Amino acid sequence: MTKNLFEIWEECLTMIRENVPAQAFSTWFEPIRPVDYRNGLLTIQVPSDFFYEFLETHYIKVIKATIRKVLGPEGKLEYSIMMDNNENKPVVVKQPSVDRTNTKNPPKQIQIDFENTETRVMNPFALPGIKKINIESNLNENYCMDNFVVGECNRVAYEAGLAVAKNPGRTAFNPMFIFSPTGMGKTHVCQAIGLETKKHHPEMTVLYVNSEQFLMQFQAACRNNSSKSSRDDFVHFYQMIDVLIIDDIQYLSDKPKTQDTLFHIFNHLQQTNKQLIFTCDKPPAEIKGMEQRLISRFKWGLSAEMTLPDVETRRNILKRKAYNEGVELSEEVVNYIAEHIKTNVREMEGFLISLIAQSSLNRKAITINLAKQMVERFVNNSNREITISYIISMVCEEMGTSQADFFTSTRKRNVVQARQLSMHFAKKYTKASLNVIGEQCGGKDHATVIHSLKTVANLLETDKQFKMVADKIEANFQ
Ligand code: ADP
Ligand code: MG
Repeated sequence: MTKNLFEIWEECLTMIRENVPAQAFSTWFEPIRPVDYRNGLLTIQVPSDFFYEFLETHYIKVIKATIRKVLGPEGKLEYSIMMDNNENKPVVVKQPSVDRTNTKNPPKQIQIDFENTETRVMNPFALPGIKKINIESNLNENYCMDNFVVGECNRVAYEAGLAVAKNPGRTAFNPMFIFSPTGMGKTHVCQAIGLETKKHHPEMTVLYVNSEQFLMQFQAACRNNSSKSSRDDFVHFYQMIDVLIIDDIQYLSDKPKTQDTLFHIFNHLQQTNKQLIFTCDKPPAEIKGMEQRLISRFKWGLSAEMTLPDVETRRNILKRKAYNEGVELSEEVVNYIAEHIKTNVREMEGFLISLIAQSSLNRKAITINLAKQMVERFVNNSNREITISYIISMVCEEMGTSQADFFTSTRKRNVVQARQLSMHFAKKYTKASLNVIGEQCGGKDHATVIHSLKTVANLLETDKQFKMVADKIEANFQ
């Protein structure tokens, strides 16, 4: 008698349960749903890309062995990944080879062929059927040019960015190197250039990566058994891009192998008239631990510095943010904030969001008094009591998540994790009740908070990378 889908999956789970720690099992395997089984091909549905990547990185051996045992040597596994689309519905397309190029939110199906080599399975860039056009740009629509307020502090980057977006790779601004201290709008402007480029040139492949992601992908490619070919795949992948944006390039300091690879990618793209955009927290000449030949290339095009916006620009930024949030601020309040919070734009934005949250929580209007009270607490931070909004701002900063996203309902992986971590620290470092924590962390209910606390506890046990980030954030509260 042939086994049905659920019996098969149950059998797989039994085997997996015996081979992974209990916590890891409940975090990573319980949420999986079996969705189809035919002709030796088992399709399982995972909640997100992140899940898929995590399973692939940490549990591929167990999964592989399990599938062999339960389905036999011919057995194959296919993941169906729930995309972050608005309806939150899983979408399943049966064949990975189906032309998905014109679907707006294409479902991802990744098929593992166990007859093939390990590299093929592990290598994120050699997914069967992936076409150039399928490369996700990683751009956040909120970071568009319309939302970017221009002042003397950022005009060069803005104007050059517009020129680059019209004519990528064909202006003198190649590479374009944008630098400033943290929180001045580098990520925003370089993403805006990416979005603008796509408007003018929908056919082009634009890719935004943070240099930490770039580094991690490179290291993963090197870890594979036949590292040569997967390293080549890594390089080829990046050489396919028309507009490559690498944010926070300073994280590649003291990483000579990654720098060497970037050097080759750089040369190839430059020679084929593709556009490169980098951001950094300092000018090229001051980056420590960076190969000289890379530094000299960074200087080839345009270096645009961004500085702290003057008070007028800060006012305009506040008005724009408030407008985007659907909130009206009096001139008095705008002036007060712009004059008192002048460390950087991120802090100012963080302050505004806390102010809005505070006023909606207490159902009070945003008055000048409320703003003054909060500025007191925000600015006079010696002996600062740890507040949930402080926790949120630190978590968002470390995780590179915008606070604007934090308070939306987006389920993007990094935003969800930022909310969960904030809840975790709020529980640990404040006296707030679970209800209050939920309310302040994006209007979540009590049950969501409990679930988040559990998830974070699991992740801290099972995911070293996650623990590292959490520890780094926690250092701010101790
Ligand atoms: P950086 O990458 O330099 O650390 P970000 O781009 O992350 O800074 O900016 C921090 C926050 O400030 C973002 O939410 C961004 O939208 C906002 N911001 C910075 N500069 C501007 C600007 N000129 N106009 C509108 N928003 C800005
Ligand atoms: Mg940034």
